[in-house]
Amino acid sequence: MTIHQNLIAGEWVGSDAIRNINPSNTNDVVGKYARASVEDTKTAIAAAKAAFPAWSRSGILERHAILRKTADEILARKDELGRLLSREEGKTLAEGIGETVRAGQIFDFFAGETLRLAGEVLPSVRPNIGVEITREPVGVVGIITPWNFPIAIPAWKIAPALCYGNTVVFKPAELVPGCSWAIVDILVRAGLPKGVLNLVIGKGSVVGQTMLDSPDVQAITFTGSTGTGKRVALASVEHNRKYQLEMGGKNPFVVLDDADLAVAVEAAVNSAFFSTGQRCTASSRVIVTEGIHDKFVAAVGERLKSVVVDDALKAGTHIGPVVDESQLRQDTDYIEIGRQEGAKLAFGGELLKRDTPGFYLAPALFTEATNDMRISREEIFGPVAAVIRVKDYEEALAVANDTPFGLSSGIATTSLKHATHFKRNAEAGMVMVNLPTAGVDFHVPFGGRKGSSHGSREQGRYANEFYTTVKTAYTLA
Ligand code: ADP
Repeated sequence: MTIHQNLIAGEWVGSDAIRNINPSNTNDVVGKYARASVEDTKTAIAAAKAAFPAWSRSGILERHAILRKTADEILARKDELGRLLSREEGKTLAEGIGETVRAGQIFDFFAGETLRLAGEVLPSVRPNIGVEITREPVGVVGIITPWNFPIAIPAWKIAPALCYGNTVVFKPAELVPGCSWAIVDILVRAGLPKGVLNLVIGKGSVVGQTMLDSPDVQAITFTGSTGTGKRVALASVEHNRKYQLEMGGKNPFVVLDDADLAVAVEAAVNSAFFSTGQRCTASSRVIVTEGIHDKFVAAVGERLKSVVVDDALKAGTHIGPVVDESQLRQDTDYIEIGRQEGAKLAFGGELLKRDTPGFYLAPALFTEATNDMRISREEIFGPVAAVIRVKDYEEALAVANDTPFGLSSGIATTSLKHATHFKRNAEAGMVMVNLPTAGVDFHVPFGGRKGSSHGSREQGRYANEFYTTVKTAYTLA
């Protein structure tokens, strides 16, 4: 099996390999991917630094063409890349193809943004002096991504970084290097000059840490766990660099007595269990008022009967496997913790046997949970959710906001009054009314508050806040 190499200073290099394993069938090796060392990472950072002066002044048509070609190729190959994504990560083929299309759309969006770069010109408060406000690229951007969105997250960080004229050192999650390798390969063939984008697949403690420790990395954008996010923050303060963190969530989904039951059930099941619950926007706390509680729980139970958990690539699968053994252990440990805390495991939670060896878990729904239990406070990151019964809307809102996190917050209601109040008072970066907590557009800001996020928003035009720095220039006429 050939090794997919790292891209360092414009050369494909590396022989020491990581095996990329299919979580739906652990006998299936998706591919072998080079493992970068500390030295490789330092070389990549130096290459990005050397490439910055030319790339930061490159013509907007050159950048537009490269991003546009990349978008076109990703979209043309959506079935093949979507399949690779599902094979390496375990989300269903429909989800894999959908995510790939989104990655293409993100490159398309930022291709367009290269043609819309603009500043402001205004008079100074002093006579005969003009003021220009422009945005300049930051420099070498370090990109560190997690395993749960193997193509969309790399796309939503790489595309704006390049669009605004930065150079990049990119470290994908070791567990899912396939899609990352593919988009780097596409970008290079689309004409990206040497050193502008460097791919360093490898361990967080080796490659990632080398990026954090380098004074030549001017900005780091990170999506991953809260613990690693804190390391990124501390190291970035040390180097006085810009940083942006997207970390955990413990997103609430509120169901009120006046909800449309079918809408509420569909949104709750989607939020909690689709993509195997492995989305930072997944909802793991379903907060239900007492008038609809029993009806809602029974209807979710009915709905779960028709949910098929199986090989991600099989037609008819709704939920694929958990990504790997250690994540599966974390999920089953939390199911045990929930039981011991006194919540009632109403549905699922058992390991499933399928035709191929994989990490299959039946979506688990607890009832009779309280908001102070560990299953309600800590991020599990699997198909495990807990229903918390509350008296009324006011209590539901208070419970929804009683969490260290603040990424996404959902509500099912037919009341304009409650929907409007919830939108204004949910302590989250994103609010969903009669929609799942997960599933966001690519052209609008994404991000959270409290313990979920730090720094400016990702995606859409708001991305320029992170990937550029503002300059104010005064000229005597
Ligand atoms: P997850 O639970 O999603 O794997 P992590 O925070 O461990 O969350 O991983 C997210 C990304 O951060 C991965 O690419 C991982 O390799 C990287 N990472 C892990 N440890 C470090 C570290 N010490 N420094 C920099 N990056 C790291």
